[in-house]
Amino acid sequence: MSHTETHAFQTEVNQLLKLMIHALYSNKEIFLRELVSNASDALDKLRFEAVSNDALNEGESELAIQVSFDKDARTITISDNGIGMTRDEVIANIGTIANSGTKKFLENLSGDQAKDSNLIGQFGVGFYSSFIVADEVVLETRKAGAELADGTRWVSKGEGEFTLETVEKASKGTSITLHIKEDMNEFLDRFRLKNIISTYSDHINFPIKMLKTEWDEEAKVEKETAEFEQVNKATALWTQPKSEISEEDYSNFYQTISHDFNAPLTQIHNRVEGTLEYTSLLYIPEKAPFDLYDRDRRYGLKLYVKRVFIMDDAEHLMPAYLRFVRGVIDSADLPLNVSREILQSNKVVDKIRSASVKRVLDELAKIAKEDDQSRYLGFWKQFGNVLKEGLVEDFANKEKIAKLLRFATTHTGDAEQTVSLQKYLDRCKDEQEAIYYIVADSHAAAKGSPHLEVFRKKGIEVLLLSDRIDEWLVSHLDEFEGKKLKSITAADLKELAEDEAETLSEEDKQAREALTEKVKNALADAVSDVRITHRLTDSPACVVTAEGGISSHMARMMEQMGQ
Ligand code: ADP
Ligand code: MG
Repeated sequence: MSHTETHAFQTEVNQLLKLMIHALYSNKEIFLRELVSNASDALDKLRFEAVSNDALNEGESELAIQVSFDKDARTITISDNGIGMTRDEVIANIGTIANSGTKKFLENLSGDQAKDSNLIGQFGVGFYSSFIVADEVVLETRKAGAELADGTRWVSKGEGEFTLETVEKASKGTSITLHIKEDMNEFLDRFRLKNIISTYSDHINFPIKMLKTEWDEEAKVEKETAEFEQVNKATALWTQPKSEISEEDYSNFYQTISHDFNAPLTQIHNRVEGTLEYTSLLYIPEKAPFDLYDRDRRYGLKLYVKRVFIMDDAEHLMPAYLRFVRGVIDSADLPLNVSREILQSNKVVDKIRSASVKRVLDELAKIAKEDDQSRYLGFWKQFGNVLKEGLVEDFANKEKIAKLLRFATTHTGDAEQTVSLQKYLDRCKDEQEAIYYIVADSHAAAKGSPHLEVFRKKGIEVLLLSDRIDEWLVSHLDEFEGKKLKSITAADLKELAEDEAETLSEEDKQAREALTEKVKNALADAVSDVRITHRLTDSPACVVTAEGGISSHMARMMEQMGQ
């Protein structure tokens, strides 16, 4: 006996559903990609768990996804014979927002349709995208290994509530039936469905099957037979030779794993053979995800072992400062039961990781060398501040990262960060003592600093730093190509010494001493010294930092933190 139980959606789900239906209207076909990708995840999970517990296969040898439709009933059904869900799992996964990033996502919405749909894409609305095309969704599922009678039916119109019912389900796994909206007839079409599958899901590692059709001579139409045929290639993209993969294939695969609507900036695909055997397919995105700075956000690559999916967001495969890199590592040297804990201290992982980091940095260096700087500068705008973290985090690659940095400087005069340290060195005189910089709260404040006056006069370029991380950056970057980095607010700068050593008349000297004495008395304990300077051309006075002292910007930051 079963009874039907009604549950309310979390408020956030309702909010999300409404938004999504509008925002994704022009991308409505992604519902199929999302459902197929969930089915594929469920098959991955089953295959993984069945390694140590064959009973979960329930005697079925083939793992597959079926997509069928019924024009008269106006339904599309997507089923898999994967891991399935228990009743509790259905409640937890479907109808609540389990993902902690979701609220943040909702807070990030701007109301601008184009921007928001991009956000939604990155965030991966997944299962809920069914409601873009369906006005009712029926999900039936049974956990692999559970009693046949322990199936669950979940039904919802996507309007605030869903019902649950215990049902008998003969095959393990999940079957989702979409009742298609009146104005979504286009999807009740074999050709259209097949097309969407090959666009988005060709690389899915399992066969996706549809009913075969046959020409019916009498009715003069293609008619479905009772036989299924495979409609996707079902080869993991990364296992194919590069020469057989088109840019479009790469891009489609990126979009499926990243939920990003944009094409990637570039990809790096390598097969490594020898003592270590693995394939890596790494993507550098073009656009930063909205939660790039969210500490709770999981980052990392998808890890496969011999084409068996192991885990998402394997953060040990990429350092935090390259957290924008997406992609897949498929290793032949790790055990199938590898856990996050094992990854943390594993030699194979360490080697894959350092090789992957090198590949990414080398690829960035290559892009940075392009005649047309727009690709690199576009990258820098999106990810520069994250890459800067690498100077501190990745000591071994410090020099490589330093070469990738770009700054605003007094040479260009605008706020765009376009100047590399190499470029700075190419332009400066050999005898110049240091690479000069100033750190301030904003570009305007840096650019307007009185400290710059004498540097302008002398034609010395100064880096204008105003990103939050910059103070930290320069405290970890002492030198570049043998030249020290020095703040122009430091007291002892060689460039200025010669002028200050100029000979003065006795009268001038006395007048100066009297003036500094007066100022010193007036400021009392607030300063350690007062000196006459040639640094300034327009401003009457400025504050400098003693050698070895903390910079004035840092002092202000510490003051703000109450220290
Ligand atoms: P995501 O796939 O990003 O986790 P979805 O909204 O697509 O988000 O799916 C939510 C959750 O519902 C999945 O994480 C999974 O636990 C569960 N789920 C969805 N579809 C299936 C399925 N076909 N088989 C088993 N579990 C599923
Ligand atoms: Mg999903």
